[in-house]
Amino acid sequence: MSHDFELLVIGAGSGGVRASRMAAAKGVKVAVVENRYLGGTCVNVGCVPKKLFVYASEYSEKFREAKGFGVDGELKSFDWPTLRDNKSNEISRLNGIYNNLLDNSGVTLIHGTASLKDGHTVEVDGKEEYTADKILIATGGWPFKPDVPGAEHAITSNEAFYLEEFPQRVVVVGGGYIAVEFAGIFNGLGSETTLMYRGDQVLRGFDEGIRNFAAEQIAAKDINILTNTDIERIEKLDSGELQVDLKSGGSMLTDAVMYATGRRPMTDGLNLEQVGVNTRKNGTIITDDFFQTSVPSIYALGDVIGTPALTPVALAQGMKLVANFYSGDNTPMDYSNIPTAVFCQPNIATVGLTEEEAVAEYGDDLTVFESSFKPMKHTISGLAERSMMKLLVHTSTDKIIGAHMVGPDAGEIVQGLAVAIKAGATKAIFDSTIGIHPTAAEEFVTMRSPRN
Ligand code: FAD
Ligand code: NDP
Repeated sequence: MSHDFELLVIGAGSGGVRASRMAAAKGVKVAVVENRYLGGTCVNVGCVPKKLFVYASEYSEKFREAKGFGVDGELKSFDWPTLRDNKSNEISRLNGIYNNLLDNSGVTLIHGTASLKDGHTVEVDGKEEYTADKILIATGGWPFKPDVPGAEHAITSNEAFYLEEFPQRVVVVGGGYIAVEFAGIFNGLGSETTLMYRGDQVLRGFDEGIRNFAAEQIAAKDINILTNTDIERIEKLDSGELQVDLKSGGSMLTDAVMYATGRRPMTDGLNLEQVGVNTRKNGTIITDDFFQTSVPSIYALGDVIGTPALTPVALAQGMKLVANFYSGDNTPMDYSNIPTAVFCQPNIATVGLTEEEAVAEYGDDLTVFESSFKPMKHTISGLAERSMMKLLVHTSTDKIIGAHMVGPDAGEIVQGLAVAIKAGATKAIFDSTIGIHPTAAEEFVTMRSPRN
């Protein structure tokens, strides 16, 4: 071997760790360079701590629900440092597990910041150089804050996980996954929460009916959703409060502003341009279907290439890349029917086409089944929350082409549906499936009348 390693991976996040471990398991000599935290965004400032906060945020409502069942509880207090620090301890434990996983699989872990010198050479912290047959960039993304005067006073999701003090009032800016999830977290933990979105309706890209229904449910939880609203400037007052001036005029006082206005690919200092790795206007790295960049020995995957920014996608890409490299697999990654959930209250989960996409693709050859109902629990809890389910059927083949849900545990339910849809299940198969009673999920196999 003419190089130090056969595969050198930059970034020990979801995609990088999976690719490194899988390659090492095949006997490949692998190194991974990481400059921040093992496990990347998902483990440290993403999916995992977020879900722990979501669990915490659900208790206040549980106390309210309990009364109708004769259980008289009271939420006496919420101690932010306990939640924050327990979460951080759990993340440290996971960091250790990732370290062991890499170690035990024989991957060489190099701590430091990597930059490319040429198609086969990576420099770490501007000092050591390592060479490799193939280099894989899996450097993920980083939160983006718009260029608004006073934006330095605002936080992003990165800081939200480590706040010194829990804000009594918060303005969350954005209408995507992170904004909607964090609005639910702050609200559930007791903050007076405003969700501020520049467009007409949050969750652009989700099924229209589902976004409208979800927004109603979210607003009913006392989250103040301000649409068609954006920030002109943020000013920090002597009192420590933030004054938020709006573009539409008017202003509001708050304790924290959190920008959840998207993420940018993390390519700082990689020297992409110098070594000839082409990027798009938005900075994502351009690859072919097999993750190869414009420099043949350099590959990239995960959030940094602009494919759906989800951990299971990065994991699947890592495995696909290794199968392509070392197991003779010459098929590209399949991006169809990727299920996804937004962990707000109630959850939103989806797989397949939205109704708008289905109409665009199949026109009238489409049958829509839809149901909205009060979950059984809330017949007694007294809460007004409702659930919604939607199935899209390609009429002439009877195939299910989309499933959407707003309701408790939607993520858990839609994961199972994703398997059926991937397997090509028809509506007839759904109809002949026996339900589990009494559940909300059984509604997916008992919807008989198409929506008018
Ligand atoms: P990352 O996991 O971001 O890993 C990249 C790694 O590269 C990092 O560790 C970074 O430190 C390192 N790095 C960067 N540059 C260098 C360099 N020059 N040298 C050395 N190391 C470098 N996805 C879901 O599927 N479900 C969820 O519930 C979910 N929740 C999320 C919540 C939040 C708040 C956020 C921000 C994201 C969430 N995601 C979720 C998205 C998910 O975290 C990402 O899609 C996933 O982590 C992408 O993996 P990756 O391998 O591409 O990059
Ligand atoms: P998204 O791209 O999902 O949403 C960004 C939001 O910010 C959009 O509503 C966008 O508005 C708005 N926005 C963008 N720029 C501005 C601006 N200059 N001023 C005001 N508003 C702006 O990004 P997120 O940060 O929410 O999340 C990044 C990705 O991480 C997600 O797309 C998802 O793939 C992943 N993720 C997954 C989760 C999960 O699986 N549960 C949870 C969290 C993140 P507009 O719609 O008008 O463009």
